[in-house]
Amino acid sequence: MHTIVQAQKSWFQEGHTRSYAFRREQLQKMKQMLTTFEKPILNALKFDLNKSEYEAYASEIAFLKSEIDHHLKQLKNWMQPTKVKAPLTHTGSKNYIKKEPFGTVLVIAPWNYPIQLALAPVIGAVAAGNTVILKPSELTPTVSWVLKKMVEQYFPSSYISVVEGDKDVTQELLDQPLDYIFFTGSVPVGKIIMEKASQRLIPVTLELGGKSPTIVHKDASVDLAAKRIVWGKFTNAGQTCIAPDYLYVHHEVKADLIRSMKKYIQEFYGEHPLKNPDYTKIVNASHFERLSNYLTSGTTVVGGAVDERQEKIAPTILDQVTWADPVMQDEIFGPILPVLTYDELDEVVEQINERPKPLALYYFGENEIEQQQVLNRISFGGGCINDTLYHIINPHLPFGGVGESGMGHYHGQASFDTFTHQKSITKQTTKFDQSFRYPGSSLGLAIM
Ligand code: NAD
Repeated sequence: MHTIVQAQKSWFQEGHTRSYAFRREQLQKMKQMLTTFEKPILNALKFDLNKSEYEAYASEIAFLKSEIDHHLKQLKNWMQPTKVKAPLTHTGSKNYIKKEPFGTVLVIAPWNYPIQLALAPVIGAVAAGNTVILKPSELTPTVSWVLKKMVEQYFPSSYISVVEGDKDVTQELLDQPLDYIFFTGSVPVGKIIMEKASQRLIPVTLELGGKSPTIVHKDASVDLAAKRIVWGKFTNAGQTCIAPDYLYVHHEVKADLIRSMKKYIQEFYGEHPLKNPDYTKIVNASHFERLSNYLTSGTTVVGGAVDERQEKIAPTILDQVTWADPVMQDEIFGPILPVLTYDELDEVVEQINERPKPLALYYFGENEIEQQQVLNRISFGGGCINDTLYHIINPHLPFGGVGESGMGHYHGQASFDTFTHQKSITKQTTKFDQSFRYPGSSLGLAIM
């Protein structure tokens, strides 16, 4: 690890990554790499997670290509120094913010969108002029192997290097003199990363998880809400950090909503989702077992079937759930949707505010005053009114959590900014000097 980090640090110091032309060329290469390796990527995603070609292409490859395109379009602007105003005390000087790369960045990725969540931060780090060490998840080993092969083919290891392995490898990487750590994963591991980083005061971005609520109020367009919730929840078999974790539904529309969700589950995944060859599997046996244990919570109103051999769990809706049930204790991260019922929106706001700040929140309802009340009264990373997941696909919206769901942002310009140090510069004039700041000047003391 030490050798890789030192090689990257030396290479960075040589200045290769500084110019706009170089960064642009690397982004273009990365796009080309995704095209060349499209088939191996899709095969690996099928093998590790049984992701369908359509879902894998849309949520991993197409997402990254569009992120690269956005960076290519904006990079020149983002790299420009930002001129700032100055007070009278600075008369004669020029003041600006220089955009400086941090140096050598470590990106630690999870397994659920193992290509997208590994490479999206790399795009930002490269655009900002850093060198990168990427640590993919060991839970999707075929994808991890493909990532290593393709990066090796396109980039020297002194610039971008993939280091495969589990938590021991990550711990060893965290002992190195890195300049930035970008972590995507669970809350408990996020705390370990931050603790480690604090020993060297390495800045971190933590993209974490948690329980993201979806609220369906009595004035919602119920059928459309059902369709969008089913899509957001069961895409990737619920293994999405911003998937609706649980549902709060107003008692007046609950029966209609559940009926509509059942209809859309059948429409999207068929009468027998476990036999659908395109339905994503649970990542491994231990997560399969963890999720299967949740099926004892509440009353199963849709789904509930499991296939241990294929490690698949059918899209499931649980009714009559309370906060005391096992399914409500931790982030679910699987295709199980618990339903809580409410009478007053105030109760919902209070109950969500008693818990850690969610990564995402979705509100379905037409009344704009109530929409604003929810947005104003609950703190959460980001989300949608009358939709799910869609905020993540807009490169103009920074993506990230707040409180326990994470710190820092990325996507689009937020990625560039995350991996850039803002160096504040005052370029002073030598044509004249102002005496007021020097000892003996009464005006100077007044200004200070
Ligand atoms: P995880 O925290 O178990 O693992 C993430 C990475 O950390 C992996 O590369 C793993 O090898 C490494 N790791 C695991 N234990 C470690 C340890 N003790 N020390 C150092 N490194 C360690 O997370 P996961 O299971 O891969 O992913 C699921 C979690 O990630 C969920 O909580 C989900 O919400 C969250 N997530 C968040 C986002 C986001 O953008 N906010 C995206 C995807 C997933």
